[in-house]
Amino acid sequence: MANLSFLDDELNQLKEQGLFNTIRTIGSAQDAWIQVDGKKVLNMCANNYLGFANHSELKNAARQAIEDYGVGPAAVRSIAGTMTLHNELEEKLAKFKNVEAAISFQSGFNANLATVPTLMAADDVIFSDELNHASIIDACRLSRAKTVRWGHCDVPSLAEQLKAYSDARRKLVITDGVFSMDGDIAPLPEIVEVAQKYDAMVMVDDAHGEGVLGNSGRGIANHFGLDGVVDIEIGTMSKAFGVVGGYVAGKKKIVDFLRQRARPFLFSSAAPPADVASCIKAVDILTESGDLVEKLWDNTKYFQDKLRGLGFDLGVTVTPITPVMVGEAKKAQNFSKSLFENGIFGMAISFPTVPKGKDRIRLMNSATHSREDLDFAVRVFEKVGKQIGII
Ligand SMILES: *Cc1c(COP(=O)(O)O)cnc(C)c1O
Repeated sequence: MANLSFLDDELNQLKEQGLFNTIRTIGSAQDAWIQVDGKKVLNMCANNYLGFANHSELKNAARQAIEDYGVGPAAVRSIAGTMTLHNELEEKLAKFKNVEAAISFQSGFNANLATVPTLMAADDVIFSDELNHASIIDACRLSRAKTVRWGHCDVPSLAEQLKAYSDARRKLVITDGVFSMDGDIAPLPEIVEVAQKYDAMVMVDDAHGEGVLGNSGRGIANHFGLDGVVDIEIGTMSKAFGVVGGYVAGKKKIVDFLRQRARPFLFSSAAPPADVASCIKAVDILTESGDLVEKLWDNTKYFQDKLRGLGFDLGVTVTPITPVMVGEAKKAQNFSKSLFENGIFGMAISFPTVPKGKDRIRLMNSATHSREDLDFAVRVFEKVGKQIGII
């Protein structure tokens, strides 16, 4: 038996630093109000932007798919795991996104791991925004390409790096669409312009933009009028789409090559039929109507205006991601605990997810919240914010 005492040291260290994460448990379906550790609270921290996670039409689609196709895919996509449902989802996604083609994966994380190492190798250079998501960072590492970081949303800094490495074999610029901790969005038109100048491919991971930005939630490219211009759009089906899964939408050549070579596609089983069918339903609903997306943004404006009015610092957000800046890890934890006691589920976020001293409560409102829900949240925030002394 190996000596595992090093893990006691590691775990104790996390506890001493206040960084040990006690994971709360949800005892109900995802909705505006949920059971958390046995207590009914207003849910302000799920990625379920549009309420699809417990939507009756998605649930019906899942039930029907189980009747028709069973529960498991029984193979990887490239051997015997591609069902008509997978193809239908990819065709509908490509149409929804106004791009040439789309390919789906088991998660957004997998979509990144599938894409970057398939396109990039040791002789190549990746240009990555310094605040990009962990799955992008891991995907870059897996590729073995040289990865250079550019300043967050700083296009002149990107241009400098592109110039410095203009001789590289292949070049790929990668950015998050919406940055998940601050709620700011990438300056995509400027990024595309400078990338084109240096003949670099552009990839945007729009996990928090799909279903949120653009016409009926078509994402950041659509938001900026860049449909079909960005080479690679990474999406997740696990946030606004309410289910689980990921995809790549973009140029057909890229999608064709991923189908041949992307390792999570070749070596990990396909997404199960119930998940794929509910994803299709989510795309159908958004293709038909932007009502839920509109409700999401109405709620966002209402909620953020009220919090700002009370004197809370929400940083630079321009999306439904609502960081309430607190400043210290312990204070943020106390804030979160006090919110919970008062009926609100809003988690504290600290280092290493955000820089030290930028500790915060990160909130997300959704289309499932009523005005009464948001008014309740604002009242509790006022009370707890005064208690903790940040307003
Ligand atoms: C959440 C997230 C992912 C991971 O998506 P999953 O579908 O949950 O695996 C990838 N990239 C970004 C930017 C994200 O925010």
